Amino acid sequence: MATNTLTSTLEPVGDPRRGEPFVGHDTAAEVLDRRADVIVVGGGHAGVEAAAAAARVGAETILVTHKKATIGEMSCNPAIGGLGKGHLVREVDALDGLMARVIDQAGIQFRVLNRRKGPAVRGPRAQADRALYRQAMQAEIDSVPNLSIVEAGVEDLVLGKEPGAGDGGKAAARIDGVLLADGRTIRAGAVVLTTGTFLDGLIHIGDRQIPAGRAGEAAETGLSATLARFGFRLSRLKTGTPPRLDGRTIDWDGLDRQPGDDPPEPFSALTDAITTRQIDCHITRTTAQTHDLIARNLEKSAMYSGQIESKGPRYCPSIEDKVVRFGDRDSHQIFLEPEGLDDPTIYPNGISTSLPEDVQVAMVRTIPGLSQVKILRPGYAIEYDHVDPRELDASLQCKRLAGLYLAGQINGTTGYEEAAAQGLVAGLNAARQAGGGSGVVFARTDAYLGVMIDDLVTRGVCEPYRMFTSRAEYRLSLRADNSDQRLTPVGIDAGCIGAERAAAYQSRKAGLEAARALLERLELTPDAARGHGLPVNRDGQRRSAFALLSYPDIGLADLAGIWPEIAQLDTSIAEQVAVDARYAVYLDRQRRDIEAYRRDEALALSVDLDYGAINGLSNEVRQKLTTVRPMTLGQAARIDGMTPAGLTRLLSHVRRRPNGPVSGAPSTTDEAADKGRQAEVAAAKTSRAS
Ligand code: FAD
Repeated sequence: MATNTLTSTLEPVGDPRRGEPFVGHDTAAEVLDRRADVIVVGGGHAGVEAAAAAARVGAETILVTHKKATIGEMSCNPAIGGLGKGHLVREVDALDGLMARVIDQAGIQFRVLNRRKGPAVRGPRAQADRALYRQAMQAEIDSVPNLSIVEAGVEDLVLGKEPGAGDGGKAAARIDGVLLADGRTIRAGAVVLTTGTFLDGLIHIGDRQIPAGRAGEAAETGLSATLARFGFRLSRLKTGTPPRLDGRTIDWDGLDRQPGDDPPEPFSALTDAITTRQIDCHITRTTAQTHDLIARNLEKSAMYSGQIESKGPRYCPSIEDKVVRFGDRDSHQIFLEPEGLDDPTIYPNGISTSLPEDVQVAMVRTIPGLSQVKILRPGYAIEYDHVDPRELDASLQCKRLAGLYLAGQINGTTGYEEAAAQGLVAGLNAARQAGGGSGVVFARTDAYLGVMIDDLVTRGVCEPYRMFTSRAEYRLSLRADNSDQRLTPVGIDAGCIGAERAAAYQSRKAGLEAARALLERLELTPDAARGHGLPVNRDGQRRSAFALLSYPDIGLADLAGIWPEIAQLDTSIAEQVAVDARYAVYLDRQRRDIEAYRRDEALALSVDLDYGAINGLSNEVRQKLTTVRPMTLGQAARIDGMTPAGLTRLLSHVRRRPNGPVSGAPSTTDEAADKGRQAEVAAAKTSRAS
């Protein structure tokens, strides 16, 4: 079945930017009359990955979004990847998601950040042509089988009963579909909500307030009310964006040029080379005059006038925040990033603001190169509702409503990459559940996306969550370069990997194994090694090429000079094996930590556990456990503020009465058993801390 687009008035629409009418095989009535397997609400970065993943698994999927023309829209900066985020993009790619392939088509400047640091913390990043990105994403979505698109707003959720629930007693509710704003209903076994910043979105520019999901698009109020009605814990968060500048009015002479990597390194394992034209960015800086002007107008900023109370991303502060929080600095860097090859719009990365428009104009004109600049669109801050992600389990399904999944900004995250990774996991799980399959959960030891989801569902958020490499405790194993080897086999088992990706994975795996076997086979005595100028000890031990690569001063080029067959290896395969060699000792150590982690994760806790009935828990620990409802002992150990005593009680309780509540004081035998379990609990705490 081809992808199909329908308007909420049931009129087929074309894609205005490509000038092509959209032609699908199904009529509007056909799509709306039949029951789908999965409905995805929202065509942002989470929504497209969720819909495509569900469809790849074989689920009949309907993507309901306001406008097909905004699928792939980048609400803020036109860039994908970066530190930590680049890992997520590679992981999405390893699971056959769309984002990496799309940015490879739309990227106009590629740079690997942290190149001088260790391979584990390097961050691939690419600047996008915003229009090309949208077009490429829409083309990808159009080509996904089993996927239809309905252009409409979703107003409410439709509930049914859990299969097998009788009429007597309280039947558990589960999701059964969605209600559109025009009153029509679409039914499905699973629904994924990916509504981004649209839930009760409110834009702030100075003292102006505009209800909106993002610039120029209406906010959604219906779903916020629905979620509140079902008892979901909702809170407000905030983010912001800088003014967009007209590049034709910038004086580029004298500004520092920032070129990309040459050659650019693609994100996707399926991209051979980047063929889109590449451009430079430029760098300028705020001045003392800029800071003075901001300080004088601070009370006019929505963020400082008291108009906005919700929290924004600390690591991505507005220019007002920077001036206040870093008062000792007289200048902040600004990257001038083109929004497209044929688009004069410039994104000034580093000066997001909610000052009034006239102050924004005066502010940018104090910056070198921008003295005559014209603002095309003012910067703004936006507040929106999000759901406490502790409402979710690790498959991103809501604990209080079976069949409902949440992904993206609605879970309190910020960023396209975080949204995409969650979308893929939610779509995959929704499709598997709708088809009667088991859930697929990624652990902290498997992937950055596992780290992110575990952080969200265990600790919740008090500010917009973004990924950093420092969040991943097993980052030597979770590298961007080995994402496919870590995750593609999991994706193959889960049914979300296409034939091309599976073949590419198998071929790379064979190449890596052959290269490693070669490097382990080639050996030198210490004297021979020293004869080649390699700095090894004269200890009589022969060393393989693989072992030699663990020395900081020995690289592939040194060994290729000794063994010509090393020079014949595929460069990217040889480099990945060299990284494994460099980290071999640490990776062995990490493997042991990972085994300990997995032991804790193997001890499952029931989602219905009555924490009120566990004796000896402090009220604080009891409340934390009730809020999070951890799925495993390991997850319980990772809850902020969890105590060893609380964990011991919990372990003792679940071991003793896996299915039922307890009452009364613990018996002496229980207490003795508690003591005996201290070591196990200590292990859980240790693996949390490591
Ligand atoms: P979105 O990309 O917002 O997509 C939501 C989609 O859902 C839209 O297509 C919308 O039309 C649709 N939709 C919503 N409600 C409904 C409904 N009821 N029915 C049908 N369709 C619906 N990220 C950063 O990393 N750094 C930043 O500096 C940054 N700044 C930002 C500044 C602004 C002003 C905004 C708006 C966002 C910013 N972001 C930033 C966040 C980034 O844009 C988001 O994290 C990312 O787009 C989230 O993806 P998503 O798929 O969750 O939602």
